[in-house]
Amino acid sequence: MDKTIKLFYENVLETRFTATVLSCERDKAGYKVVLDRTLFYPEGGGQPADKGSLDDAAVNDAREKDGLIYHYTDRPFEPGQTVSGQVDWERRAAFMRNHTGEHIVSGILSSRFGLSNVGFHMGAGFTTIDTSAPISKEDLKTVELIANKAVRDNIGVLTEFPDGDGLRTMDFRSKLPENALIGGEIRVVTVPGYDACACCGLHYFTTGAVGIIKLVDSQKYKAGTRIYMLCGEDALKDYAAKNEAVYGISVLLSAQPDKVFPAVQALIAEKSSLEQRIIGYKNRLFASAAEAVPEGSPYYCHFEEGLSPDDMKRLATLIAERAGIAAVFSGTEGMYKYALYSKNGVSDAASALNAAFNGKGGMREALAQGAVIGTESAIKAFFVKGFVN
Ligand SMILES: [Zn+2]
Repeated sequence: MDKTIKLFYENVLETRFTATVLSCERDKAGYKVVLDRTLFYPEGGGQPADKGSLDDAAVNDAREKDGLIYHYTDRPFEPGQTVSGQVDWERRAAFMRNHTGEHIVSGILSSRFGLSNVGFHMGAGFTTIDTSAPISKEDLKTVELIANKAVRDNIGVLTEFPDGDGLRTMDFRSKLPENALIGGEIRVVTVPGYDACACCGLHYFTTGAVGIIKLVDSQKYKAGTRIYMLCGEDALKDYAAKNEAVYGISVLLSAQPDKVFPAVQALIAEKSSLEQRIIGYKNRLFASAAEAVPEGSPYYCHFEEGLSPDDMKRLATLIAERAGIAAVFSGTEGMYKYALYSKNGVSDAASALNAAFNGKGGMREALAQGAVIGTESAIKAFFVKGFVN
């Protein structure tokens, strides 16, 4: 079979084409179809595959092997058949914007900071660029400013196949050779003044088409930094979502939008101080509740609203210093969580309690914790009947 003609290199803005089916085979998820020519870009050079349709069939993926491009479809075709193809332009355009933006950013990282792009991925929410050595968040702000100037200047992006002399004299960044060779030739994509890079992907003709270049986040990754980038509409959507969040927080906290960060920090500090005060109050409450227990009681039931399982355990442990079995209940009338504590073990008491009140829970030696269904008076009566008599 002849190699598939790559129409996407002839005009990256074209989305519709007709072609002849050369072969169609069953595949795990559907069918894989080879055409004589195609606008579907197959995954490569960090750029994900195009999606779209061939007649009524969905094209979910496209891969290249030995010069043939395989379209993964959900319906079969007959060899010799003529088909109409349609590429999902929104998806492709977003990749082209991000890919062109990636060249600009990688060129700046290389020329101004001496960093190589050692990993590039698109298609999982963010575009990521991994650098060969670390770069600070402060320096990334500089990269972002320069990159957006390149967009505003609306520079023409050049694609060339330099010959032997050209290749020797040209200074360009290089990705893996297999990602830059097209028909055995090296394809160099140049953004004059910013970048030249061997690449097989699809790019816009001018930098202005990229729109905003936003370096959203960065983190340490392997020997360098992973940069999270959004371009054009993706960046605008991200801005809109964050704007909404910040203005929402601003209203809630009565703080200016650019002051929400210190306002949230103050709120967290206040919460932490309140938690400390609550712990102090609880300690005093638990100590006085335990002091009210007559020394040497065979059992003691205590009901208190709003206790956490940990609070209940602590209070039961304190009460058990004065009573044989300490039972602490917390909840609403009819449905209580409980903690039973006794130095002599609580398995009999917990089993009897669960059996009487449709309860369930776990126990570990001196402590049992669980939940029961019953009223306060019925539970108290159970303890009188079960433990005093
Ligand atoms: Zn590229």
